[in-house]
Amino acid sequence: MTERTPLPALGRQLDEITAELVTRQPDKVRAHWSRAFRPPNDVHELAARAYAMYLDDNGFFSLVSPVFGDVENAVLDMATSLFNPTPDSCATSTSGGSESVFAGLHAAREWARVHKPEVTSPKIVVPFSAHPSFTKMSHYLGLRVERTAIDAEFRADVEAMAAAIDEDTICLVGSAPCWWYSRYDPIAAIGELAERHDIWLHVDGCLGGYLSPFAERLGYPIPTWDFRVPGVCSISADLHKYGYCPKPYSTVIWRSRDLLEYHHVHPEAGPAGAYRMMGFNGSRNAGAIFAAWSVMSYLGEEGYLRLARLVFDARQRIMDGVAAINGLEIPWQPELLPLPIGPTDRLDLGRVATGMKELGWWTFGMREPPAIHVPVDAATDDRIVETYLGDLAAVTAQVREGAIQISGDLRYG
Ligand SMILES: *Cc1c(COP(=O)(O)O)cnc(C)c1O
Repeated sequence: MTERTPLPALGRQLDEITAELVTRQPDKVRAHWSRAFRPPNDVHELAARAYAMYLDDNGFFSLVSPVFGDVENAVLDMATSLFNPTPDSCATSTSGGSESVFAGLHAAREWARVHKPEVTSPKIVVPFSAHPSFTKMSHYLGLRVERTAIDAEFRADVEAMAAAIDEDTICLVGSAPCWWYSRYDPIAAIGELAERHDIWLHVDGCLGGYLSPFAERLGYPIPTWDFRVPGVCSISADLHKYGYCPKPYSTVIWRSRDLLEYHHVHPEAGPAGAYRMMGFNGSRNAGAIFAAWSVMSYLGEEGYLRLARLVFDARQRIMDGVAAINGLEIPWQPELLPLPIGPTDRLDLGRVATGMKELGWWTFGMREPPAIHVPVDAATDDRIVETYLGDLAAVTAQVREGAIQISGDLRYG
């Protein structure tokens, strides 16, 4: 049995703790991907200052106090504006993508209780490539999940989704894009399906929600996926990914206030009676709200476009570098991020991941098919790109020589 760390009887010295915090910090270069998603320094410093100023404040009060509510509403308005909203669209804050998925599915379930009262065992239909949180949250919500096939291009097979719809189906899901393959599901076609069957459609834009609009403006071929598709009811989008806001912060954007109503659970219970919160959480760190407001206000459209350019430039440099490494390739063109790296011939990519981990690169990966995911962000500077490519080339050569035998770090969580 390992020893439990005792609470020290006497507190330790401030400078001793500070020194330990510094030595425990992950390597700024080689641990970069495991600390994703990071903005350039000026944005980071502004966010840190804003967060620290409101560190001890509680976002709990955002629905009742204008001190918090005005700023949170500004964040949510700015967020909503990016998704081609209807005049009636609005947004909700959450603690992250997982909670945003929970919120979307919960609202879908509540909507179905009103509109499909005959359904007693509700089911959702999601592509194989949807994030695991859809299965996790369905567990909490008592929803059955049917995962349907994806096509050869790694996109949801809409016919397979159509075939899976039965009288218990209350909600469809599409990703824009999914993490694994960085592919946009055909949201327009899934939207038609949802409308035809009168069921909820949640689009998971957790990863790309705050990058897609700017990628589109930069001319990258981004399919139409947001509220321009009439069947889309709710969208999850993580500010703490390409919104460059400090964790924890994600958003759900609702097509209309009517749909938002299915999100709210405002009991009158206990000695105080009313209990009104933004969503699942009670106490929340107000620092995240003020930091998000600061970052979005500071960057504006121009800033997000500039950061998007940095991301796509770094992505291209890594793609070019990987193409020059014997044994590795870019297995498919990502429509956004993360950048996939795959093996050529029979190279065991798990061994590459093991070797990279030993050097301090904790990377994301998957097994179907084997790939390493590089979540390139706007703080990916030349030093990171060059060190990564150098280490990757060296480790891949070691794997080809048989110098690394342990395989198995192609994982996500
Ligand atoms: C990151 C992500 C999530 C979950 O977000 P967390 O913030 O990690 O809870 C859901 N869907 C996609 C596509 C993601 O990339």
